[in-house]
Amino acid sequence: MKEKLYIFDTTLRDGAQTYGVDFNVDEKKLLAKKLDELGVDYIEGGWPGANATDTKFFNEDLKFENSMFTAFGMTKKTGRSAENDPGLAAMININAPSACVVGKSWDFHVDLALRITNEENLENIGESVKFLAKTKKEVHFDAEHFFDGYKSNPNYAIDCLKAAKSNGARWLVLCDTNGGTLPHEVEDIVSKVSKEISGDHLGIHAHNDTGNAVANTLAAVRAGVRQVQGTINGLGERCGNANLISLLPTFAFKNEFENKFDLSINRERLNLLTELSRLLDEILNRVPNRTAPYVGSSAFAHKGGLHVSAVNKDPKTYEHINPELVGNQRQIIISEQSGKSNILSKLKSAGIEVNEDDKTIQKILDRVKEREFNGYSYDGADASFEILVNKVLGKMPEYFEVISFNVNVQNSGEEGQTMSEASVKLKIDITKDFLHGFFFGEDQARYLVEVSQNKLEQIEVDASKSAVKIERIGEIGGTSISINSIGEIELSSLIDHHTKWFNEF
Ligand SMILES: [Zn+2]
Repeated sequence: MKEKLYIFDTTLRDGAQTYGVDFNVDEKKLLAKKLDELGVDYIEGGWPGANATDTKFFNEDLKFENSMFTAFGMTKKTGRSAENDPGLAAMININAPSACVVGKSWDFHVDLALRITNEENLENIGESVKFLAKTKKEVHFDAEHFFDGYKSNPNYAIDCLKAAKSNGARWLVLCDTNGGTLPHEVEDIVSKVSKEISGDHLGIHAHNDTGNAVANTLAAVRAGVRQVQGTINGLGERCGNANLISLLPTFAFKNEFENKFDLSINRERLNLLTELSRLLDEILNRVPNRTAPYVGSSAFAHKGGLHVSAVNKDPKTYEHINPELVGNQRQIIISEQSGKSNILSKLKSAGIEVNEDDKTIQKILDRVKEREFNGYSYDGADASFEILVNKVLGKMPEYFEVISFNVNVQNSGEEGQTMSEASVKLKIDITKDFLHGFFFGEDQARYLVEVSQNKLEQIEVDASKSAVKIERIGEIGGTSISINSIGEIELSSLIDHHTKWFNEF
């Protein structure tokens, strides 16, 4: 009989406290929806009453299919009843069935930060939990600085947990708030704590200040905790929280954990992880980390010719799991170091059929090496590689020719007064169908219609106002020219893996 391991996501609370992160209500709603779809047990939405965004978010009356929506807050202040504490009132007055209340468990903090007695702190924990437990289905007690507290005064740290438990807390979460505890210490301390309090009431909340948040979480689970707190991509204060994107597949696909634990998250749903990780990067306007475990674009990338030929025989030779389990994919990197096996494998995944003995393979390889010698790189530039192949094969259609372009950036001398102007002169054969697929901004669209009607062979696109993008619509790829507001011009051809594109033209 497997034990249940509960997953608690705090991206929208601890993650939101990260330097440079500022979610708005819509972004929180989108992420919460995705986490619910994935099926985490708890979604901590934020701190109602502490800021306008979180207060509004909790008043949205959100519905969750799988996850329990959780509000965060602090234990009551000394000298005030729980009923009269505005922070606790904000947690009660919203529609979240679960509450997570943070309190001190390190006597040093009780004395120095709160300037109250140890007994007063125990009372604050107990009364706050009791008050929340009257209306909430589940109460989590986040024992702040638990590991430092345990090292300083183990009996008191345990007493803090017991004060919460005896007043109705479902979970007692051991927080490594400063993030300085190491895996062997976590394992040792959790083992001792779980002799006094059953592990199915204990959680772990690890920070990554020594790069060990994931390792500390695994150590805590091995030693007995059954609730794991973390965030998408390890977002969180300072160096971040434990990364759920690394933890979830480890729990689901690594033997020791897979054989011992059940998750609420269906293992098949973990193929949403890559998408979820990139969604967060997109919201934060960050470039995805290529080397992120499990979901990075390099996580299953093979470059050396020897590796590639082995992977082609059996992916297990250089892959610890099947990338599709987490929604990622195998990448065969094309570079100067490539052998024929890289080229063949890449051609296969692009749907381009070439005979294995074909001299064309050598021709493609030679062309790649020649281009890389001249400073180009096909490492991660799949579309460019496909264009190169099709040029070598003589299958590359010509859509237009850039006659000339001109980019002009001016500054009047005042800050913020920079103006960019650009124009591109293209030669386009307007008798071809593909023109209808182009997409323009309003002015350019009108201009193009006029040009088409007059059957001119050249058009000029004036990009004096803002960015211009010319793209084919639809999923079958195309060509784009873009000029951004600081005057950079980029010309690129995008082809995806639908072979239909080549058949059409
Ligand atoms: Zn934290």
